[in-house]
Amino acid sequence: MSPLPSKLAYVPFVSVADMMGLVHHIGIEEMLTDLAAEIEADFLRWPAFDKTPRVASHSAIGVIELMPTSDGETYGFKYVNGHPKNTAEGLQTVTAFGVLADVVTGYPKLLSEMTILTALRTAATSAMAARHLAPEGARTMAMIGNGAQSEFQCLAFKAVCGIDTVRLYDIDPTATARCARNLAGSGLTVVQCRSGQEAIEGAQIITTCTADKQYATILTDNMVGAGVHINAIGGDCPGKTELHRDILHRASIFVEYPPQTRVEGEIQQLDPDHAVTELWQVVAGQMPGRSDARQITLFDSVGFAIEDFSALRFIAKAIVGTPFFTPLDMIADPDDPRDLFGMLQRAKPDAAGN
Ligand code: NAD
Repeated sequence: MSPLPSKLAYVPFVSVADMMGLVHHIGIEEMLTDLAAEIEADFLRWPAFDKTPRVASHSAIGVIELMPTSDGETYGFKYVNGHPKNTAEGLQTVTAFGVLADVVTGYPKLLSEMTILTALRTAATSAMAARHLAPEGARTMAMIGNGAQSEFQCLAFKAVCGIDTVRLYDIDPTATARCARNLAGSGLTVVQCRSGQEAIEGAQIITTCTADKQYATILTDNMVGAGVHINAIGGDCPGKTELHRDILHRASIFVEYPPQTRVEGEIQQLDPDHAVTELWQVVAGQMPGRSDARQITLFDSVGFAIEDFSALRFIAKAIVGTPFFTPLDMIADPDDPRDLFGMLQRAKPDAAGN
């Protein structure tokens, strides 16, 4: 790949192949650690961002969402879907792409695949949250739901939180076997379990990352002992939750952006005024995170636009000087800005077809 032409209107495009190349170039654990730091830095300046709950278009079988935000200099958005029935058809449950744009000109400055990047940023955010909320010395994590996100979650908790053992469970044993195979050689001790109950034995952190468009009960109240940290990823849509309501009443609940989480997260099961803490306030030292060893902490993750913004900005910096992008001619930018039509006319083939 040649360096970007100077023309302002060329937009670097990071394809799926580019993203995979970049992850291997940086190293996945290094990238998860760097992404967690990038996201944490933006949580520290949370008030600087425009915030709005994502714009969701629901159907009976899934959801398509737009997730915008801006820090006044850069604007970003992600397009993402969630279709739990897709895997049965050989398709991803979640796919995504995203854009960064310059607030001063309004011109896009990055277009990137975000299916892989979403898995990376979700795992990095979870691990960053757990660093503030999980019990000290946590070494074992239960990983319930062994689909597309699961290896990323396991590796982020290893790299960022020092987890050394993961206990896997999925209703589909082939998913557990695949996850275990993919984590072989990662340095994690991987235990395949036959039930959720078996998976949580001895775990100080429980991650739930299942996909089902219903009020599911992945964890019942009696499964959750004092002192654990729950990282609940899969409940992220109206009518789609993973935890029994009674757990929520025993837990200290931490969320990304309450107006979005109240509609999409586990807390949709609670009264709208049930007390929750915004994670950014914990990161900024304004609110306590874990305050005692017996406390149950819950990160009710739904995924918020600022995490995608941080991830896209990380990619925009990381691709500089690498071959992992293609300049896209996607903005019409005539030399005389009012002569859009003239530019079109000059591009007309002559009689000889040239
Ligand atoms: P996936 O379809 O690839 O994997 C989901 C897995 O859950 C499957 O292997 C399935 O067999 C398993 N499962 C379903 N019901 C189960 C049950 N009752 N017990 C145990 N396992 C069960 O999906 P994915 O891409 O890994 O995403 C997982 C979930 O995370 C989805 O619901 C997705 O919407 C959500 N998600 C959340 C965020 C966030 O930021 N919070 C980001 C990405 C994805």
